[in-house]
Amino acid sequence: MATSGARSSRLGGLGQWWGVIAAALLIAAWMNRAAGPVVVATLSGMLLTWCFFQAPVTCGAPVRGREDGCRNNATGLLMGCHIRQHRWQKLKMLILRRQVREFCGGLFSDGKATLVTLAALGSFLSGLVAFIPGMALG
Ligand SMILES: [Zn+2]
Repeated sequence: MATSGARSSRLGGLGQWWGVIAAALLIAAWMNRAAGPVVVATLSGMLLTWCFFQAPVTCGAPVRGREDGCRNNATGLLMGCHIRQHRWQKLKMLILRRQVREFCGGLFSDGKATLVTLAALGSFLSGLVAFIPGMALG
């Protein structure tokens, strides 16, 4: 038996990647018609939350003198890295400064961000579709 799991109950390391498990379960739920819309919607919501607030993406907050911005790891598409000024940077960008285009550019800034963005879109759509009567899960 491998000893993995002994210490992974704390967040960090594997904890950041539970969204991948949620994504796998969501896909499984879609393929297995026995899973009802509630299961699909729950998993979709979990995955969306992970994408927005936990996914390990690059911070990307503007930094003076750096064209590609902050390269620290951020926690989710809507959040920045551990630096306090960066933490709410993206939400501020969206809500206060209405820099939606810049924000959207950041969503596809690298492979990881693109993947998480697509996962967010997919989970959003799947959550939506799960509750439309007569659609795939009707
Ligand atoms: Zn940062």
